[in-house]
Amino acid sequence: MSTHGEQASIGKVLSFLQEWDHGNKIARSRMLEAFLTQNSGKTFVELELEFAQVASLFLSRLTTWMRLTYMFGTYLGLQLKAIGVFLSASSHDQYLREFLEDGGALTLLDVLGQTQTQEEDKAEALRLLLTISNAGRKYKEFICESYGVRAIAECLATSITAETQEAAWALLESLSRGNPKHQNQVYKGLIALMPCTSAKAQQLVLQTLRMVQSKVKTVHPSIVEPLLNVLGSLRLEVQDEAINLILDLTQYEVRPVLLSGLVALLKPAKGEVQQHHMLEEPEMTEMTLSLSVFVQQAAAAKAIRLLAEASQELSEELLSLGVIHHLLYALGNREHTEAQVQASLALEHFVRSYPDIEEHVHRAMGSTLFAAFMNKADTLHMNMDEIQAEMLLTNKINIMEVSAAYSVFTMSRLRSAMQKGKRASLELTQTTKPVRKKSKAAVKEEETTTTASPSTYHTFHDPADVVLLRSQLLNWYDKGKRELPWRTAAMTEPDLNIRTYAVWVSEIMLQQTQVATVIDYYNKWMKRWPTVQDLAAATLEEVNQMWAGLGYYSRGKRLHEGAQKVVSELKGQMPRTVESLLKQLPGVGRYTAGAIGSIALGQVTGAVDGNVIRVLCRVRAIGADSTSPAVTEALWGLANMVVDPERPGDFNQAMMELGARVCTPKGPLCSQCPIQSHCHSYRKVYAKQEKNSKRLLGKLDRLPSTLPDIEDCMNGGSCPLCPAEPWDDELGVQNFPRKPVKKPPRVERTLTCMVVRSGEEGGDEYLLTQRPNKGLLAGMWEFPSLLLEGENSEMKQKGALCAEISRVLGVQLNKSLFQFVGEVVHIFSHIHQTYVVYSVCLKDSEDTQTQTENTQWLTRSALQEAAVPTGVKKILKLYDSVESQEEQTSKDGKRKKTAGVKNDKKPQTSKKAKLSAANNGTRQLSLSSFFKTVKEES
Ligand code: SF4
Ligand code: ZN
Repeated sequence: MSTHGEQASIGKVLSFLQEWDHGNKIARSRMLEAFLTQNSGKTFVELELEFAQVASLFLSRLTTWMRLTYMFGTYLGLQLKAIGVFLSASSHDQYLREFLEDGGALTLLDVLGQTQTQEEDKAEALRLLLTISNAGRKYKEFICESYGVRAIAECLATSITAETQEAAWALLESLSRGNPKHQNQVYKGLIALMPCTSAKAQQLVLQTLRMVQSKVKTVHPSIVEPLLNVLGSLRLEVQDEAINLILDLTQYEVRPVLLSGLVALLKPAKGEVQQHHMLEEPEMTEMTLSLSVFVQQAAAAKAIRLLAEASQELSEELLSLGVIHHLLYALGNREHTEAQVQASLALEHFVRSYPDIEEHVHRAMGSTLFAAFMNKADTLHMNMDEIQAEMLLTNKINIMEVSAAYSVFTMSRLRSAMQKGKRASLELTQTTKPVRKKSKAAVKEEETTTTASPSTYHTFHDPADVVLLRSQLLNWYDKGKRELPWRTAAMTEPDLNIRTYAVWVSEIMLQQTQVATVIDYYNKWMKRWPTVQDLAAATLEEVNQMWAGLGYYSRGKRLHEGAQKVVSELKGQMPRTVESLLKQLPGVGRYTAGAIGSIALGQVTGAVDGNVIRVLCRVRAIGADSTSPAVTEALWGLANMVVDPERPGDFNQAMMELGARVCTPKGPLCSQCPIQSHCHSYRKVYAKQEKNSKRLLGKLDRLPSTLPDIEDCMNGGSCPLCPAEPWDDELGVQNFPRKPVKKPPRVERTLTCMVVRSGEEGGDEYLLTQRPNKGLLAGMWEFPSLLLEGENSEMKQKGALCAEISRVLGVQLNKSLFQFVGEVVHIFSHIHQTYVVYSVCLKDSEDTQTQTENTQWLTRSALQEAAVPTGVKKILKLYDSVESQEEQTSKDGKRKKTAGVKNDKKPQTSKKAKLSAANNGTRQLSLSSFFKTVKEES
């Protein structure tokens, strides 16, 4: 039984509804205004009280009226506000449910898409949708499943008032929260919104993306391109939001693509700028477009500075992408001051953080500009003239790498990406641009002379290939590697100092000497000097004695010097990094440092020796001169890229072993090669063979190839890594590597004289002089010699030799004593040497006892044992053969030619005068023990 009051209320509501039902739009609008005045802010209970528990009847009428009229916009604003009173009535969701059931939410989404709808009505509709969204997960799902995200995103992109944009942004933000099912949909919707033309909308989208990104945890790769494009926005606040998002995204696997994209923006491709100038648009458009490229350039420089400041790892990764070269380029862009300012500030960060970079930047800028730069980087552009700008635009500086940090970092990241089964779309090629010379400690830089950069054909662009190659090669190595004493030491020696020393000794011995020869020497050496301290305490003579037979004596000398340096200057501690190995140890170059660093110290770095050059050149079809700077650096880049981050030492040894045993200079065993599937050369040969056999069978055009098409270098004729000469079918994989065309050896003629005297014990003794400490055969002993300039008569030659020997011995000799013996040819790697040999036999009267630091008399047996150069041995042989011929034939004095011998005129050495010349026995003895055996020196 209802009370009188209740009945009155119901009556009031009924007449209200009747009035509504019969009212025209004007009447309804008045009713709505009154409704709003009386009911705004009321709760569910209050509204129900007001409407006698049947307020829903009015809400459903409102919803229907809106659905029928929104397209015409009739009092839409009022309707939306009135609906808002219901939807926001707190403490109950009954109205919400009823509104959705009546299709109200769908109508609101439709409202957003109406071009004629007023902006404030759109904003109101968005606020209502936000109320719905905030009511809980199922409401969010409802909106998303009704294509809401797209409608809202489009509204945000096209709306023109901040009010609407902010309402749309708030709604998207709400939909991304507590809505796991549709989070990604919102995220992708936001990415699609980035290119919108409204700066405010872009800013909001970027803000929301940052927030959503932190929730979705993974990154959609499609984010990169629009994000980098947003950097071209003329609005600073948009750029800043984009940079913030870029900073956030460096946590994810898109980082390499983002970083390389940023670096690329510093140097807009010619086409990009030209293309703008070609547009048949009014001048203004042209300018705006070009400007946008430059604005992007400036923003990229700014982003790069902020990234580099944020972390050392990022700095080094940017360096590896050649950022210094690109920043210098942007700095030279006199068409856009902001690009210059930002590039200069970023460059300043790198120069101040990495002292090694300073010198290169200094060189690229020139002293005056560099001084201004160091003084005030942000106003540098004011001090720059056209020529300096041109210098920067054409700079060839390309500092690519700081230590092994990049490879450690990149490789481990790649590895983990691969393990997760994700293929990060990384452009690994970026890491292998040619670099040339290693400067001071850690920075490698390049000044290439070529303008073309190598195509991806010569590197690995799929990280999966790199991972596969590593495992194939290491499996092969693990199964069949040779047990070598230094390998055992590297594996088992726990003391880092001894381990480094042991590997250092082996690497120096293995320079220019075969493994089989080295093993014995190595074992003896390590037994005698097991630590660097032991070696430092030895004398050079002992070291040379131990080295005798290995050749290239300077190697032993440098090991000894290095050991003494380690003990005296480094407190007995072997260097611990590739850089310090290079810097501190004499005789340790880039390869040796890489080898010791990786094998003994586990540093992640490549090591490029002759074997590795061959393998890499064949695998990646690098056919340009393998000694050229571009190829050298490409090979180092490749080696640093492929080296296994977990087993760098084994990997490098495996590469070398592959080169030594399988991928040999001649007759490589491709069929047994573990990395055949990666080898461009092999595929090239195989494809040719297949083609030829098909041609023979007449099937060329009918059968498809069983091999995939060989991708070819895209750079064609301008590629610094492709061979200049065409492929030679007969050479097969041996087309690679190519050596430079050898210069013909220099032709030299040298006068040399065997000065003979009778020794104390009756036998002959021979005079030897020591060569200068530098140059060819430095410090070695030979018969007194003179370089012959031009053709001289025999008399003149004798005169010259007589003067020289007289000078050496400090006595005056007579040139008539000199006898021509013959000629000996000896070919060094770069000199074609002919020794024109004379002899002279000294008599009693002559004082031959003069001894100096650089002269010695040796008995025949000492001479035979001595480590004299091969040329001296040949001269001795000639002398002996002439003498024995003399004994057998009559003295006819005529010159005969034999192989390598031009004359057999007998020197007057058979009758030697007795000499009183007592020799310096001790000295001779020591020399004889020093010269133990002979080794080829040329
Ligand atoms: Fe060398 Fe042949 Fe292996 Fe290629 S397939 S790396 S050429 S051995
Ligand atoms: Zn090429």
